[in-house]
Parts: sequence; structure tokens; C-alpha cells
Amino acid sequence: MSVWAILVAAGRGERLGLDHPKAFAKLGEDPLLAEPLRRLDDSDWIDAIVLVAPPGWEEPSILLAEELGCGKVSACVPGGETRADSVRAGLAEVPDDAVAVLVHDAARPLLPEAVIERVLAPLGEGWDGAVPGLPVPDTLKRVDADGRVLETVERESLYAVQTPQAFPAEVLRRAVATGGDATDCAALVEAAGGRVKVVPGDPLLLKVTTADDLAKIAAWL
Ligand code: C5P
Repeated sequence: MSVWAILVAAGRGERLGLDHPKAFAKLGEDPLLAEPLRRLDDSDWIDAIVLVAPPGWEEPSILLAEELGCGKVSACVPGGETRADSVRAGLAEVPDDAVAVLVHDAARPLLPEAVIERVLAPLGEGWDGAVPGLPVPDTLKRVDADGRVLETVERESLYAVQTPQAFPAEVLRRAVATGGDATDCAALVEAAGGRVKVVPGDPLLLKVTTADDLAKIAAWL
């Protein structure tokens, strides 16, 4: 069985306020992209990697992969306008004989090997996908544009969902072929009628959105 990883790194990261893409923000000594790339390459569960780079940054991305000695990187393609477009671009490089595809946000650099194992396991039990999730600890309220509380939302069944997200390759291909947009791949699979399982996530999978997130993650390295 061959498991392919798609590492989506094509976001602009405007909230970091840099003049280069988020994937090339500094995390410790290296660009942010280095950490998730190295971890995917080191994973016993991953056979090959497609890197989806910020448009125009394919060459520095390939150079970085070479410098790190990431021998599993099979292709590097430019990303699209939206995350779903970037996933579509990456999936086009995944060969027909791939059995499972794991999609990961480069913006979540601290990828634990145990989470990769947890999201792949349900695929062997017939699930159409698996995603890591954490229970939401705060009370949740739906609020209108004026800040008025409309309702308190029952939180028992709510999870904050992360990546990596794993799918049988054919399921993900069919879901992204619809051309839909969504903030994660699982939403596309759900919209196509797929059964997606939530497995325990990890707080280390914090997504870099602001400079504070970068500082926090650098301290965890
Ligand atoms: O924008 P957001 O933080 O949700 O992005 C999540 C991940 O998707 C990031 O790793 C980002 O680089 C990637 N992305 C992408 N192409 C886009 C938008 C986001 O690869 N057009």
C-alpha cells in the first residue's frame, strides 16, 4: 500500500505581515516549511511527498528539500488561489496506484508521528476519511454583526479540526473533482457524502497565523 502526502504551503500568510510567503517565515534557524517537510520525510507511514509551493517559490522549495535530504519529495508544484485549488494541484501529481493520501498544512509544523498513525488507521476500517480534532474548551456563542448574542451553542459535540487529514486516494479525487471550495479537505469529502471520523488531535499542531503563534511554536521546538 502506498501512502502519499500532500504538503500544502502556498498560503500568503498576510496576517504575519512579511514580504515573503508564510512557508518561508523563520522558525528557529530554518524556514517554517522545513519542519513539516522533514517530519513527513522521516515518517515510517509516508512513501512519497508532493510539495505545493507558493507560486514563484518552487525553486527555493525544491532547494530546501534537497538541503534537508528529503528523498521522498516526488514533485513540487505551485499552489492555487484557494487551499482547495492547492490540494487539487498537488493531487494531480499523485499517481493512480496510490492507496491513501494524507493532506497536511505546512502552517502546522510540529507534526507528531502518532497523529499520522491515528488518521491512517480508520481507512483500514472502511472510513472515507479521518481528521485529528480537539474538543472545544470554551463556551461557544453565536453572535450577530452588532455583537449581540443570539444563542449559546451546545459544545459537547463540537471539535476544532486540524491536519493531517487522511483519505482513500479515490475518495479524495472524487471529492476535489467537484470543484468546490472549503477550509479543509474533509468538508469536500463530507459534501460528497463521505463518512469522516475524528481521532484525537494534538495541541502541538497549532496553526501559524500570527507572529505570536510562530514565537509559541519556536519555543516548543
Ligand atoms: O490559510 P490557511 O491558514 O487556512 O492555510 C492552511 C494551509 O493551506 C497553509 O499551510 C497554507 O500554506 C495552505 N494554503 C495553500 N494555498 C492557498 C491557501 C492556503 O496551500 N491558496
